[in-house]
Amino acid sequence: MNLSRHRIFGFVAAIAVLTGLIGAASFPALERHYMRQQAAQDAVPLKLAVESLRATLDRYAPLPALIGERPQLSALLLDPENLTLRAVVNEDLRQTAATVKATDVYLMDISGRTVAAASYRDAGSYVDRNFSYQSYFNQALNGDLSSFSVYGTTTGERGYFYAAPVEEGERIVGVLAIKFNIAAFDSIWRGAQSDLMVIDRNDFVFMSSRPDWHFRAIRPLSDATLRLIAQNLQYPIDRIDILPITATPLSADAQLIDIEGAQPESFVRTSQRLTDLDWTMSSLTATRPATLNALNTLLIAGLMALLTLAALLAYLLKQTRQTEAMAQEQKAKRILEAAVVARTSDLQAALADLKQTQTDLIQAGKLSALGQMSAALSHEFNQPLAAVKSYADNAGAFLDRDRVPEARDNLDRISKMVDRMATISSHLRNFARRPQQATGPLLLNAVIQDALAVVEMRLGSEGGEIIYDPPSNETWVTGGHVRLQQVIVNLINNALDAMEDQSHGQVTITVAGPTISVRDTGAGIDPDHVANIFDPFFTTKAPGKGLGLGLSISFNIVSDFGGVLSAQNHPDGGAVFTVTLQETTPKEVAAQ
Ligand code: ADP
Repeated sequence: MNLSRHRIFGFVAAIAVLTGLIGAASFPALERHYMRQQAAQDAVPLKLAVESLRATLDRYAPLPALIGERPQLSALLLDPENLTLRAVVNEDLRQTAATVKATDVYLMDISGRTVAAASYRDAGSYVDRNFSYQSYFNQALNGDLSSFSVYGTTTGERGYFYAAPVEEGERIVGVLAIKFNIAAFDSIWRGAQSDLMVIDRNDFVFMSSRPDWHFRAIRPLSDATLRLIAQNLQYPIDRIDILPITATPLSADAQLIDIEGAQPESFVRTSQRLTDLDWTMSSLTATRPATLNALNTLLIAGLMALLTLAALLAYLLKQTRQTEAMAQEQKAKRILEAAVVARTSDLQAALADLKQTQTDLIQAGKLSALGQMSAALSHEFNQPLAAVKSYADNAGAFLDRDRVPEARDNLDRISKMVDRMATISSHLRNFARRPQQATGPLLLNAVIQDALAVVEMRLGSEGGEIIYDPPSNETWVTGGHVRLQQVIVNLINNALDAMEDQSHGQVTITVAGPTISVRDTGAGIDPDHVANIFDPFFTTKAPGKGLGLGLSISFNIVSDFGGVLSAQNHPDGGAVFTVTLQETTPKEVAAQ
């Protein structure tokens, strides 16, 4: 693993840590979000519960005024010692209470003393008890037709009370009160998902789906408040307790509340105020679902981040691998290129060497040819020159003695020598300048016949035999008559030269298609010389016998015709020289 991969892992790890930190940091906000969502969900059932509570309360509000209108009540209040009437009223109130399912219905005189009560037969009956301290009593006495309050008694029973004045004409003569057990309300929200609580203006919980919250205040009560409660005997002061709550606002109507205790609890509290009663009803939903939701969301986000990071990591690693591969490829390419450059320069150097060697060889070849030529020429010319010199000396000596005929004879010899040198010179000229004479279609037999006529004279003097069987059907070939004749004469002369020491030498001339073969019965070509016989000035003959130009000139002539001159030794002995020319057609002949 190289540095850049380390860097990638570091980078991805840093992003992972950062994502983790962001997730951790955002958790509380996310949790709050789900809490607010919970509060919004709770608002609807809470509204229904508030309406249900209000409907129940309102249903019974007119009752005390209705019952208070019964004439026997005011009659009893005016005649309190009338035991018969009292018994009638007691029974009437008992039946009424049973009908409306009230805990008690009772009649008080203006001093607050209870003169008749539905519970007249019970042990803890209200009869003769004085309730002048109760606020509902005082309100009713002041003319309030539907005074209402909530009380907790020393027994821990919570009640709510309605009261109305009992009038005789325009005069208030007493108060009729009805008490309901508030526990019946607790059932309003039975089965609800959330807990509910109702607090009064002192933040005192007097209704709740949680019995353990009854008679508890959600904030410390001031001494003045406590005094007032004690005075009115509204709640059992010895049972008043604090519900230790820490509240954090979530929205206008919602809070996060933590309740301390042996088992701490947390709730989303959604509240609605009942302004006229100065009550607040709250729904309390455990925060657990919101927390779980937040955790779930974080988990999903975390997983997605992880997947994204994994993908990113894979992508970056792939990129690195590609970059590395490319770098390696580049390196390999550079090495290869360097090798190619080195090899190329080697080759160039080798090529330069080769060229130099070739140049050197050509130079050497030229020099060797020049050397051969100089040697041949000096042989060719020195001998006649030496003869010319001695003939000239002789001619001079004969002239001194007036022996003219002898002098002339020597001068004739000089003339012959000069002719011979002129012939050599013309050979050389031919060799140096190859005149571009025209070529045309020709028939081989005619050329061979002319060549044979030239060598006939030599045959006569030296012996030797030429076998030539003219072809039955002739082939037209491309060439020049005189030059091809020169070639054939040269080949026949060479063949005769090679058989000089034989008494019965034979030269066989064959024509097959465009090919002429000249075979002799001589010693054949020395294998050491095969490669050189066509070189100019190459000869194995004695000085004055050969210039070494015959085959070289012949080779060039045949090449000029587009043909090939080749030499080989015959398996049965002797040399075979073959001239192969290009075939042509009479049509082309006509065209020319
Ligand atoms: P020259 O005849 O003047 O030597 P050529 O070029 O005609 O020059 O021949 C070159 C040489 O080739 C001869 O000196 C001889 O060695 C060899 N040569 C040519 N023809 C024959 C032949 N028919 N048999 C053997 N050797 C031959």
